[in-house]
Amino acid sequence: MLLEVKDLQKQFNGHQVLDGVDLQIHQGEVLVIIGPSGSGKTTLLRNLNFLEHADSGTMHFADQTIDLGKPSKQQVQWVRRHTAMVFQNYNLFKNKTAQQNIAEGLIYGHGVDAKTANQKAAQALKNLGLYDRRHYFPTQLSGGQQQRIGIARATVLKPEVVLFDEPTSALDPELVGTVLKDMQRLAENGQTMVVVTHQMWFARNVASRVAFFADGQIQEIGKPADIFDHPQKQRTKQFLNALA
Ligand code: ADP
Repeated sequence: MLLEVKDLQKQFNGHQVLDGVDLQIHQGEVLVIIGPSGSGKTTLLRNLNFLEHADSGTMHFADQTIDLGKPSKQQVQWVRRHTAMVFQNYNLFKNKTAQQNIAEGLIYGHGVDAKTANQKAAQALKNLGLYDRRHYFPTQLSGGQQQRIGIARATVLKPEVVLFDEPTSALDPELVGTVLKDMQRLAENGQTMVVVTHQMWFARNVASRVAFFADGQIQEIGKPADIFDHPQKQRTKQFLNALA
């Protein structure tokens, strides 16, 4: 097991959004989280890498044990360094080129010298077939290209876990496939991934496990076929039936 959270609690303005989440993430797995909008899936991801701070809970990550209610600065930095996030709206730096966006985290987060960082960024763009776009700014790229660069920016840092927050939901339908293909390739290369998505094809075909999240908790978790074909809970059945 790579990362575990126990009894994660988070309120916003008295509203209990995460109500005692228990979650284990195994090395090399693709854990897909599905569930209704507004149920707290994004909040869960953001609490895993301290973009938001939990009220309470425990995290075991590699050999560290962290009190999520009062993590030390070093622990927060350590977790951020070993995780990376891919955002719904890409969150690329608007005033930086594709290559600079990818190199940035290596230089400022990991202390890599600029020349090496740019070489790595260029190589990442070559691997994606986007090398000819390396000097383009985000506004000169399609949403799909921006998100593929967002994924390259996250993975070039070699994080233990990549957290994907609805990575394709802002994209035009015809661009979704290009991004999912990059994610599938990453999965095949053994990258540990946690993916919040409404793309049920991806959940069914690429996930190692699928978690159904609702009402502040993981309601059910298992192999894709178990969750999709033999859901145990009424709440899961309702959600899946509404999609059909
Ligand atoms: P999901 O990802 O499942 O759609 P979210 O995690 O985005 O759900 O949101 C869960 C709930 O928490 C929603 O009711 C949302 O309005 C609320 N929420 C999320 N972030 C904040 C915030 N920063 N401040 C106040 N409420 C928030």
